[in-house]
Amino acid sequence: VSQNPKPGFTGSPINRSDKIRMNADALAAARAHPDARFLPLMKLDPHLLDERLLWLTPEQVPDEADMLFLGIEQDAPRFAVDLSASQLSTEPLTAHQAIARISAEEAASYAGARSLMDWHARHRHCPACGTATEMRRGGWMRTCPGCGAEQFPRVDPVVIMLAEHEGQVLVGRQPRFPPQSYSALAGFIEVGESIEEAVARELHEEAGVTATDVRYVVSQPWPFPSSLMIGCFAQVTGRDIVIDEDELEAAMWVSRDEVRAALNGDGRFRTAPPYALAHTLLSRWAAEG
Ligand SMILES: [Zn+2]
Repeated sequence: VSQNPKPGFTGSPINRSDKIRMNADALAAARAHPDARFLPLMKLDPHLLDERLLWLTPEQVPDEADMLFLGIEQDAPRFAVDLSASQLSTEPLTAHQAIARISAEEAASYAGARSLMDWHARHRHCPACGTATEMRRGGWMRTCPGCGAEQFPRVDPVVIMLAEHEGQVLVGRQPRFPPQSYSALAGFIEVGESIEEAVARELHEEAGVTATDVRYVVSQPWPFPSSLMIGCFAQVTGRDIVIDEDELEAAMWVSRDEVRAALNGDGRFRTAPPYALAHTLLSRWAAEG
């Protein structure tokens, strides 16, 4: 078990280059650059070529396509383009199929592009007045020509946590999980809550345990569609569990040895894949003992 595995969907080699977003001339030059590369997504899913993301050259993308400016990688501008209406020679993979095959760095680049494109698809109209909105800043803003409202790509914060008590942590399973799979508990942060308050509330709602001390550990973006996973450890006052049966079908306390075995794939329970923050959290906790 690695001491500090990097969280999934982090470490993209693309520099976001926000100054270019703000400058229409620089954006046009980036798009016309002979080394520019374009990530085609079909209904948000990517194409692979030789187990890497497929990027298209300027000649391969239609002039009229909306381009989302991702940034600069090794002096080459990078864009995402929605080719859902087009036909490429390869079939797209589902996101999870692709993520299992490409490098962590490429998965990070893809995840950002996917979340950004999904946000545009769901924000075509102004939430204040209903007018059709227009893309700005290379895809990092939408503006309303009716009332002037500005919208920015949204991120939804989610807390994901391990309750800890006397050398064991609490893992739970939802009915939709694969057989024998258990994970950290998680939930969206609500309006008006801090991270610590959301962790304590979720642990109490889902498992009936009372948190006394919450410690932030690690975070990652999660592109389904656009969450920020905030990983925490929480000391709790006791081990009695009362599960919320609408959320969980089972929960149990596990030791470091059991967590290490699960991470190695030979334990009495299975856990989330390495690109999920639950895996990272369990690894960090196992490494602390
Ligand atoms: Zn408006």
